[in-house]
Amino acid sequence: MNEGKVYIVGAGPGDPKLITVYGLECIQKADVIAYDRLINDDLIKHAKKGAELIYCGKEPGKHGLIQEQIHQLLVEKALQGKVVTRLKGGDPFVFGRGAEEANVLAEHDIPYEIVPGITAGIAAPLYAGIPVTYRHLASSFAIVTGHGRAYKGEDNVHWEALAKGIDTIAFYMGVGNLHYICEQLMKHGKDPKTPVAVIQWGTYRKQKTVIGDLTSIENRVKEESVTHPAIVLVGEVVKIREQIQWFE
Ligand code: SAH
Repeated sequence: MNEGKVYIVGAGPGDPKLITVYGLECIQKADVIAYDRLINDDLIKHAKKGAELIYCGKEPGKHGLIQEQIHQLLVEKALQGKVVTRLKGGDPFVFGRGAEEANVLAEHDIPYEIVPGITAGIAAPLYAGIPVTYRHLASSFAIVTGHGRAYKGEDNVHWEALAKGIDTIAFYMGVGNLHYICEQLMKHGKDPKTPVAVIQWGTYRKQKTVIGDLTSIENRVKEESVTHPAIVLVGEVVKIREQIQWFE
């Protein structure tokens, strides 16, 4: 029997042209494509004829296939000798659970490769005209989960270190938790006037950006009805948008 193989592939943030050349090859050669919710349909169109397409997405707060079922699926298909491409939004190792999947494959001695992708926390700001670093303005950048407390009451974010030590912060999964995020940053010493951008559907044609500061952004987002998926970007770099807004 042929040995199967699994490719854990980052599809990029949305614009289908932002996948890597290697990622696209993995889609083209796959017998099975197991894809997540935030995958642009235009990418799936590159699947070969007869490829099995399996949706593994989860809506926020709801459950599609649970993680254990996804693990089982990858193992089963690979053991049947299939080439499986596991397609994930952005980068598979940035809040993507790609490493957990690789772990399971390793336990079962199934060959696999992991293909990086462009992550939303850098690409969505870039398409909004905001660099995450900038000479003299931002020399550090952090990627942080924004659903901390909302998720099972846990919050492992080190707010004081973030507020005092990091120039630019990209919160993923944070738009529903904006009040708490802004409150924590101010409470731990971030200037209330620090600019904030919330970028929804980054790199898609329908991308939308709302600008405010730590005190005003929550209302601005409500006024503009901005919801998931969005990146909450905090830092002085947001001001650069005034000069290099190029996409929206
Ligand atoms: N692995 C992904 C992140 C998965 S977590 C990556 O590297 O980009 C899901 C979160 O990513 C969403 O809640 C949202 O905060 C962010 N996200 C993903 N795609 C996005 C997009 N096109 N625009 C804005 N935010 C996005």
